Formats: sequence, structure tokens, C-alpha cells
Amino acid sequence: MRNLTVDMVFLKQTLDYFAPHKTRINLLGGEPGLIINLKEVIDLIQTYENLIVNVLSNSLVRRRYPWILTDPTIFYTEHLVLDFHEDSIEKLGNYDFLPKNDFNNYNLIIKTPNYFKYRRKHKLNHTDHKNTILKDYNSRSPDYAVVHQAPELQRRICAAFPLVPVIDFEIQMIRHCSKKVINGSRKFEITKENIDDMMTYKLFEFEQYCNTCTESISPRSDEQVLDIMEAGNV
Ligand code: SF4
Repeated sequence: MRNLTVDMVFLKQTLDYFAPHKTRINLLGGEPGLIINLKEVIDLIQTYENLIVNVLSNSLVRRRYPWILTDPTIFYTEHLVLDFHEDSIEKLGNYDFLPKNDFNNYNLIIKTPNYFKYRRKHKLNHTDHKNTILKDYNSRSPDYAVVHQAPELQRRICAAFPLVPVIDFEIQMIRHCSKKVINGSRKFEITKENIDDMMTYKLFEFEQYCNTCTESISPRSDEQVLDIMEAGNV
């Protein structure tokens, strides 16, 4: 939420722990466009053979660091829509959606109720291509009265390795679940042992907040589900 200079000593130590594991490092926030030394951060991640960098931005990155969009080795995911209305789209940046491209630049669109209302009245064909990711909306918005829960087995698999476990740079700890960061995800020290356990599905457990979770759970590959179950956390 504010300009941040990433502590490069802390970053390098953390990346060294991740180095043996094939990992996508997703820079998200807040807003990574606010990181003052973002180029230094990305340059360092790119020195690791096993690590791929993804930047998730509200479009500020397009304005401040446009070179990111021209490097196909960097995945760039833009989530610039605040919401759809019946006749308009509320955006954070003054940009149109990203066109179809081979630069690994992606639109991220949440399928809110208003998304469907807008689509019924207006054309959105220019977003219907391989570089648009449509995501189910979830319970985090106060406007969405979602009560649907994924089956418990799916939540248990998610809990063993949520889609986005977080390395929190402010408190320099691992947070179990990005969806629970605001309301208190369980936290762990950043050590080599914990990172190894996390990446082999042995660190995280089914927490109290997973019992009541109403997030939409992304499907996993059969192979990953088997790995998670074999690791014994489900
Ligand atoms: S709270 Fe929900 S999204 Fe988070 S780890 Fe638990 S089941 Fe997964």
C-alpha cells in the first residue's frame, strides 16, 4: 500500500531456500508497481534456474515499468477492473484490456454478478482470447453474499498447499493462505526446513478458518492431488 524498497539480503536468502524447487514467484501486494527497486528484485529472481517471475498489478506496472510487458520470460497479470456496472466498467488505470499476445501478458477478470449484467448488454469479445483469465468471484467483497463452500476434501487439499502461500516482506514470515492475510493467516518462520516442508506439502495444515472458508478453490492436477495426499496432510 506504500512505496517499498525490498530488502535484497532478505530476498536473496529466501530465494536461496526456494532454489531447489521449481517455483513461480508471484509478486503481488498491495501493488508491486509501488516497489521502488522492482527491477533489482526481478533481475535477482531471474538468476535462479528454477524460478519464474509473475507480476500481478492493478496496471500501475504498465505505467511505471512498461518493460515488464515486453519480456516474455516475465508473466504479467493485470487485474485493473474494480467492477463492472450494467453500462460501464470501473477501472483503476486508464487502460483498455490487454490484447491477445505472445508476451505472457494476461487480463485477470473476476466474474462478479455485474460482469454478467454488462456482458448481456455490451460486447466484451475483445477479451475473449487466450490471454484472458476468468476467475470465479469469492466471498471477500462485502457486496457478494456468497455462501457456497467447496467440498471438505477440496478444502483439505487446498489447505495442504493453497494456491498462493505468501512470503510477507513486512513481517518476514511465511503466511499460510493469501485469502486470510487480512484476518489472520497462520504464520511460520522463513527457514530452509520450513520452505522445504512447504514445497513438499508437509508444512501446512487444515486450519480453523478452512472449516468456514467460502473461497472458490482452484482445481489441481491429479498428480498434485496424489502428491499432497501421499505427503500425509490430507
Ligand atoms: S482458508 Fe480456504 S483458500 Fe485458504 S487454505 Fe484454507 S481452504 Fe484454502
